[in-house]
Amino acid sequence: MLFIVDSREHGEALRGELEARGIPAWRVELWGHHVVVTPPRVRVEGLRVPVRAAIELRTEYQLVSREWKREPTPVRIGGREVREGRLFIVAGPCAVESEEQIVKTARFVRDAGADALRGGAFKPRTSPYTFQGLGEAGLRALARAREETGLPVVTELMDPEDMPLVLKYADALQIGARSMQNFSLLKKLGRAGKPVLLKRGFGNTVEEWLLAAEYVALHGNGDVVLVERGIRTFDKTLRFTLDVGAIAYAKRHTHLPVLGDPSHPAGDRRYVIPLALAIIAAGADGLLVEVHPDPDKALSDAGQQLTFEQFRELVQKAREIARVLRGG
Ligand code: PEP
Ligand code: MN
Repeated sequence: MLFIVDSREHGEALRGELEARGIPAWRVELWGHHVVVTPPRVRVEGLRVPVRAAIELRTEYQLVSREWKREPTPVRIGGREVREGRLFIVAGPCAVESEEQIVKTARFVRDAGADALRGGAFKPRTSPYTFQGLGEAGLRALARAREETGLPVVTELMDPEDMPLVLKYADALQIGARSMQNFSLLKKLGRAGKPVLLKRGFGNTVEEWLLAAEYVALHGNGDVVLVERGIRTFDKTLRFTLDVGAIAYAKRHTHLPVLGDPSHPAGDRRYVIPLALAIIAAGADGLLVEVHPDPDKALSDAGQQLTFEQFRELVQKAREIARVLRGG
């Protein structure tokens, strides 16, 4: 159940009253509302604390559901906003490889129309023998690229222990597919004070993805952007299967913004543009896309990173599709 109350004091009093009855309850201030949350389908009667609304939802995820909050939630990253009705484009290399590489990419993607810069400093690699990322040196290079271009910086946080370090440099934290169900990490993100880009795990259902977002919100951080990045299916033609249906579904069932990553499902730069256009046509609020100054020489995900020229073409086509479908 969600209880909307008028103030922090009423929220505290209600939480106390519920807990005294043995009902677990959380108090959060999110999206301009004072909310007290209990597990779903809890029946409570005769409350003493005044509540503005008591909302029973059909879904297990509650705070992030669009069933109670009809208006879409905008999320600020740096000085810019991810929001419905506008395309937000996050672009940059899979991994930060040097200051020169990231600054060069940042300048190019900014001029081509990107809203934010991506680049991993801590890379989740399948093989322990491959490039693991530059760590703090990579974060410093990202900060340098932000100084040079004004673009806000999105970078992956893998280890909960690195959260203070990554927060020192990042404008938003990317949570990778492999970390989507690291529940201790998700709880900690509740106190991050910065937006979270939450990728869908490639073996996870849409409901599990939305429940991961619920974890972050329930622990105090409502600035969550969902990112569909492809799932594992029987078909091995492309690297992953982009689930466009999940984008349409998530847009209908949650008020949080939804982006799509066309790079990881494609695995091959020749397919990135068509997948990106499908992502936008399915209703996503933007893209997270890999771009590299010399993709064939990239230290990770070399096959799928776009060249600068391809990125320019992608932005033009993406904006055209968005204009045709929703006038913006
Ligand atoms: C990435 O964005 O480079 C990445 C590792 O993505 P994912 O977590 O979706 O595999
Ligand atoms: Mn990558």
